[in-house]
Amino acid sequence: MPGPVLLRCYAELNDYLAPAERQRDQEVPLAGSMTLGALLARVGIPAAAVEIALIDGESRGLEHPLRGGERVSLYPVFEALDPTPLLLLREAPLRRVRFVADAHLGRLARYLRLLGFDTRYENDLGDATLAAIARREGRILLSRDRALLAGPALTHGLWVPSTRPREQVAQVVERLDLYRLLRPFTRCTVCNGLLAAVDRAEVAAELPERVRRAFDAFWRCQGCGRLYWQGSHYQRLRALVEQIAAACPCD
Ligand SMILES: [Zn+2]
Repeated sequence: MPGPVLLRCYAELNDYLAPAERQRDQEVPLAGSMTLGALLARVGIPAAAVEIALIDGESRGLEHPLRGGERVSLYPVFEALDPTPLLLLREAPLRRVRFVADAHLGRLARYLRLLGFDTRYENDLGDATLAAIARREGRILLSRDRALLAGPALTHGLWVPSTRPREQVAQVVERLDLYRLLRPFTRCTVCNGLLAAVDRAEVAAELPERVRRAFDAFWRCQGCGRLYWQGSHYQRLRALVEQIAAACPCD
């Protein structure tokens, strides 16, 4: 027999659960091999009420088979007021969790990149362009502007409650249950490019003398060429990453 899955329902989906099971992780035993759709039927949540189902952080459709041990997160309408939630769940799953941030969320974008999330941000994109990017590239649009998120062309959006970037990034990770997808320090916070390790000898000529002497490990952004090493800035950011990861309800 397969082991149970760990189920978490968000926002109003909790209304379908017994009071003791709301707003918390619950273990749901599987009856042999089950699909996601069968799991929803088992716990009494109508598929039409679910907009996005993440299984171990990946968006999946109703036919997705469960083997036991997965973490299943269910979301109602992503506060984007999309009129076709069933269609979204079945036909347009996001393959990966990716973001596009609106013009006011530049620091949030940098923090998400710090955690490893592919996050587009340019400070001069208009509302129509943001919605088009979200749709075309399967990105979740992040905004504090509810009117923008309610736009008819948008399929995936997330409203960010806080005005403080450090709180915002923690909220996005919590809301979308992204703890298992954190890949800190793998992406350039400036341009969103991926980092690749490079030999010190290869980059020595580009480094200040004190850096060359103090550090052994270096990474280069594949997008903009910027060099990274684990200096004092890294230490401060690592504290932030650890704080976010520590909020995971899974352990
Ligand atoms: Zn870069």
